[in-house]
Amino acid sequence: MQTGSPQETEALAADLAARLQPGDVVTVSGELGTGKTTFVRGACAALGVREQVTSPTYTIGHRYHGQHAAVSHLDLYRFQGVSAAEWGDLEPYFDDAIAFVEWPEAGTGVLPPPRYAVELKHVAEDSREVRITEC
Ligand code: ADP
Ligand code: MG
Repeated sequence: MQTGSPQETEALAADLAARLQPGDVVTVSGELGTGKTTFVRGACAALGVREQVTSPTYTIGHRYHGQHAAVSHLDLYRFQGVSAAEWGDLEPYFDDAIAFVEWPEAGTGVLPPPRYAVELKHVAEDSREVRITEC
């Protein structure tokens, strides 16, 4: 599926959000600037998160209050892998929450298995290829 604006990517994310429940993990992959955080922002808005959703690149993550469920947003950009000690810090984000994980590669095999995998690719200035796979 191709989107032609950040708003269209947010709308796709809102469609996916309607299918999620606490405990679900959604990985969001793609190069820098492809729209991972934009996608998560759209999903959070649809889930009733009122706080501003910003990139957690310099923190492990954020945990927000959605209307019906907690919503977590993690970014593993700076991780090489996830050690047992690091998993101790990450685990609370997944506990009874819908969790979105940017740069999930470092957490493969350690994070709970995802329910959906979202992959974003740069097509042109304002267009992106967005692929959503049910895992
Ligand atoms: P990432 O988290 O992947 O690094 P961001 O969501 O932070 O990416 O940034 C994506 C940038 O690309 C934003 O400036 C956004 O406005 C812009 N953009 C342009 N077109 C699109 C689109 N179709 N979908 C998502 N973002 C887009
Ligand atoms: Mg980002």
